[in-house]
Amino acid sequence: MNIWFASNNLHKKDELAAIFKANNAPFPLKIPKEEGYVFDPDETGSTFLENALIKAHELKKILKNKDNIVIADDSGLCVDALDGRPGVISAIYGEENGKKLSSEQQYTLLLDELGSSPIRSARFVCTMVLLLDNDRFYAVQETFEGQILKKGEIRGTGGFGYDPIFFVPTLNRTLAELTTEEKNTISHRGKAGKFIAEYIRNL
Ligand code: IMP
Repeated sequence: MNIWFASNNLHKKDELAAIFKANNAPFPLKIPKEEGYVFDPDETGSTFLENALIKAHELKKILKNKDNIVIADDSGLCVDALDGRPGVISAIYGEENGKKLSSEQQYTLLLDELGSSPIRSARFVCTMVLLLDNDRFYAVQETFEGQILKKGEIRGTGGFGYDPIFFVPTLNRTLAELTTEEKNTISHRGKAGKFIAEYIRNL
C-alpha cells in the first residue's frame, strides 16, 4: 500500500513525515513530483476543506485509482485584523499576473497591510484529508493561535512561509525559532496529522 501526499512542497512533506513518525505511523510518503507526475491542481475552493479535497481527488485521478491512499492538506494564516486574510490564498498572497512572491516578500506585504494595528491575533489553520476511495474520506481541521509581530521584530531562520512573523506567546518565540519537533507537537499541521496518523495505523 502506497501513501501519497498531494503536494509539491518538500518542506511540508518532510514536516508531515516527521509528524507521522512521532505518532507511530512511520510510513514513507510519496509526492507526485518525486515520482515523475505533474501535479498542478486549480485550488479554486473557497474553504480549506474544499481545496484539500480538490488536491486529493486530483492526485487520485493522476494515480488512476490504483491501490493508493492519498493525503492532502490545505493551510493558511488567518489574521483577525485583516478579516481572516490571507486565509485560503496564503500561498499565493500578493501574487499578480501569476508572478509568485518569495515568503519574505509575502510576510513583509502582510506586515505593511497590518501596519500599526493594535490587534495582532492570528491563527494558522490546517485541513487534512485522508482519501481512501473516491467517495470515502476522513477530514480534520486544526488551528494554532499566535500573534503577528511588528516590522523590526521578525525573528528566526527555521520553518517556512510566515513562520518568522508568527509569535507564540506561551513559548516566547516565533515559529521560525522552534525546532521541527517543537513545532510539530503544537502546530495546526501537527495536530491534524496526529489525528490522520491514528487512522493510518488502524487501516
Ligand atoms: P498550501 O500548501 O496550498 O496549503 O499553502 C499554504 C500556505 O500557507 C503556505 O504556502 C504558507 O505560505 C502558509 N502556511 C501554511 N502552514 C504554514 C506554517 O506552518 N508556517 C508558515 N506558513 C504556513
